[in-house]
Amino acid sequence: MMRTPTLLPLLPVLGLWSCTATQPLAVDPEAAATRELVTQNVNATLYQNASAEVAWLFEQGYAFARLKLDANLATADSLPPAVIVDVDETVLDNSPYELENIRAGRTYTPATWKQWTARAEAKALPGAVQFLNYAASRGCAVYYITNRDADEKQATIANLARLGFPMADSVHVRTMEGTSDKTARRDAVGRSHRVVLLVGDQLTDFDQVLKDRSTDLGLPTMYRMADQLSRLFVLLPNATYGYWRDGITGKGTAVEKSGRVRTFIDQRDR
Ligand SMILES: [Mg+2]
Repeated sequence: MMRTPTLLPLLPVLGLWSCTATQPLAVDPEAAATRELVTQNVNATLYQNASAEVAWLFEQGYAFARLKLDANLATADSLPPAVIVDVDETVLDNSPYELENIRAGRTYTPATWKQWTARAEAKALPGAVQFLNYAASRGCAVYYITNRDADEKQATIANLARLGFPMADSVHVRTMEGTSDKTARRDAVGRSHRVVLLVGDQLTDFDQVLKDRSTDLGLPTMYRMADQLSRLFVLLPNATYGYWRDGITGKGTAVEKSGRVRTFIDQRDR
């Protein structure tokens, strides 16, 4: 804080130097870092969008979900059963939006994201429609707890309904209510239902405590919760974004994020 005023007189001098130096034209660092982040997302997006491997991981995950659902429904309970699923990269595939971003040389922004969700043209991920209709046929209520905003709710319902997802309505689709923490929305379902299974692409789709990646990127917390995760949760693959990546990039500018990725790779010792 104390040093800032003494630096200010230097700024015009530095600017003059950068204009007159015989170097290639200066590149805007933020634009360069954005290009780096875009490039970093290419393989992950191709994997999500165009690999038979991910298609099978989803089929496999939903087949596993069916086994777990059957097992958990075998024990009786006084409350009616419910299944809770996340929406993005769990039942709906937004990899075409990621491809649009790569084609445009940009990264995610809330504005472009909302233009995409308003189109309501995401496709269903493999196995999702079949699994949730199976759950409904077994007497389960299906709740879609998503961190899409309230102003995306109607388009989300339309998208889900058009694809044949059960209970795609304003009661069962729960958009964000002031916080990305899904705990209160899950608890609300839990007051009237016995939650027999949760499915998501983020560990936080099971428990918010799994958002914290400050200790060994969250691995100790995950293992501490292994028993509950095994019984009640099915995790699906998302290589493009999530708390796993936020734990490395942090928040901030493209320069800051891409710099942290480089530092992480440089210092990673395993
Ligand atoms: Mg998701």
